[in-house]
Amino acid sequence: MGFLVVATDPHHSDFSEELKEFATIGAEFRTAQCKTEDDVAKACRDADGILVTFSPIGHRALSAMRRCRIVVRTGVGYDTIDVPAATERRVMVANVPDYCISEVADHAVALMLCLRRKVAELDAQVRSQGWTGMLSPVLRLEGQVLGIIGLGRIGRAVATRTWGFGLRRIAYDPYVPADVFSTLGVESVGLDVLARFADIITLHTPLTSETRGLMRKEIFRQMKPNAILINTSRGGVVATDDLVQALQEGWISGAGLDVFEAEPLDGDHPLRHLPRVLLTPHAAWYSVDSEHELRRRSAHIVVQALQGQVPASLLNPEVLDR
Ligand code: NAD
Repeated sequence: MGFLVVATDPHHSDFSEELKEFATIGAEFRTAQCKTEDDVAKACRDADGILVTFSPIGHRALSAMRRCRIVVRTGVGYDTIDVPAATERRVMVANVPDYCISEVADHAVALMLCLRRKVAELDAQVRSQGWTGMLSPVLRLEGQVLGIIGLGRIGRAVATRTWGFGLRRIAYDPYVPADVFSTLGVESVGLDVLARFADIITLHTPLTSETRGLMRKEIFRQMKPNAILINTSRGGVVATDDLVQALQEGWISGAGLDVFEAEPLDGDHPLRHLPRVLLTPHAAWYSVDSEHELRRRSAHIVVQALQGQVPASLLNPEVLDR
């Protein structure tokens, strides 16, 4: 019997990149729209390889899979996949860690600039026949303090891009060696210091048990009233109710958010009604180029694994010892 590859919840409809890759090993390719683990269990029972966007892959789904060798997260963050459970069942898990670094860094900077220069507010003014210049104060960006939380691939790309704005750049990342900070010209600080001094905080950590709710009431309370928060990482890194309170009560001045604890964002969510908040629908990763790269590379990883090779971005290499 030939290989079967299932995409559990693809967002696109043109599968030419995937089909080209899977044709090289004669694999059949099917798509589904799985929302729950039960959906995944049903769709993937006989799959040898799985492409997953956001469908949950935990014990329940994995134990229904009879032949699966690899699950590839078509993206960076893999918090919806229970990696230890996959390792237990000798299933490889991989992601595509670096297909959209420049897009996400650009998006974070775009949100900062739009909020700091009040682009949306001014645009609305002109559209409603106004022409009065600035309605509310705009502070000079040069000389402000940018606080980067998570100085990995995207955090570093943000640090590089913002050098030219004359920002003082500080970062909190306990896992990055000192020479990375010094090469970028970024000061290493603790979370509390960053919260107190930054005018702009931008989040670039993964969502882990340690980072869930990292931005919470106690941190918002320490921030400057003129500070803004940018989140293009994962919604769960921010305690949303605390953020809403911080915005409503003026503890901070604004937020640019691409990711949310629950996506899509609830139709009546208070964030939709707050001023000085910019919202984008988990779109930071996207460009025509990044999308093609993502699809081609995800499918290629499945092909590599099914051919007995070890994928470069394997997240649970210990599975190879089992
Ligand atoms: P990365 O692994 O290269 O970097 C993450 C950094 O966070 C690392 O340097 C790590 O040391 C640091 N970190 C981990 N735990 C921390 C903690 N408790 N406190 C401070 N720092 C901590 O990841 P990346 O490629 O830069 O991606 C960053 C985030 O961007 C991820 O959450 C990813 O899911 C998200 N992302 C979002 C989109 C989007 O479309 N919005 C697209 C791609 C990636």
